[in-house]
Amino acid sequence: LSLISCKKENELIEVQIPDPEVEIVQTIFGNPVDVKVDEGGIFKMKGLKYAYDDLAPFIDAKTMEIHHSKHHQTYVTKLNEAIEKAPELKGKSLMELVANINAAPESVRTAIRNHGGGHFNHSFFWKLMSPDAKNTTASAELTAAINAKWTSMDNFKVEFAKSATGVFGSGWAWLIKDKENNLSLTTTANQDSPIMDIAAMRGKPILGIDVWEHAYYLKHQNKRADYVADFWNVLDWNQVSKWFVEL
Ligand code: MN
Repeated sequence: LSLISCKKENELIEVQIPDPEVEIVQTIFGNPVDVKVDEGGIFKMKGLKYAYDDLAPFIDAKTMEIHHSKHHQTYVTKLNEAIEKAPELKGKSLMELVANINAAPESVRTAIRNHGGGHFNHSFFWKLMSPDAKNTTASAELTAAINAKWTSMDNFKVEFAKSATGVFGSGWAWLIKDKENNLSLTTTANQDSPIMDIAAMRGKPILGIDVWEHAYYLKHQNKRADYVADFWNVLDWNQVSKWFVEL
């Protein structure tokens, strides 16, 4: 914007009017690939395939940034600390550690359960979401398996949402499959995973939602059902379909 101002007689000058929008403070979010854990640690942070603000408005950027750079980072840091205290666990993959909680030395078993589970579950969760979710679809095989169990995709979504909203306190809701590709819904408390030997219902997760308040409270506050409804808008069905046929 500019105005023509008359400074002296016959002398016209152009003066700039400040654009009101420059007064708005812009929040700059970090880059997921910059999130690190201590150098010597076995497990690392891997970044994300999208930026913190790419899942907005369904999951807001601040929630994504804190969730990834603080919560997930802490699980990895503490998992590394636990392994330092139990060197016999060095060399085991994350999957091996998490699937065999009972085999962990007692002194670090709870830490492996909570922080190994936290690292595993969050790594899974980030891959499950995409800014391009609306262009993804469930494969024919996956759709058939969902229809066989729940009669339709819509019914499945209703039942999944019931599971997710039914978790008391912090935990996860999951769609899991067994070796015959039968699907089931299950939930876990805290950072337990259906792949754990201690899980009440074991299976391979192909879809899951983090229902800890840290996953949604900034945007959705106490309305977990709204968060679950928003989740469908960022769910990458191509990834779910891929996991359905793997293993
Ligand atoms: Mn979380």
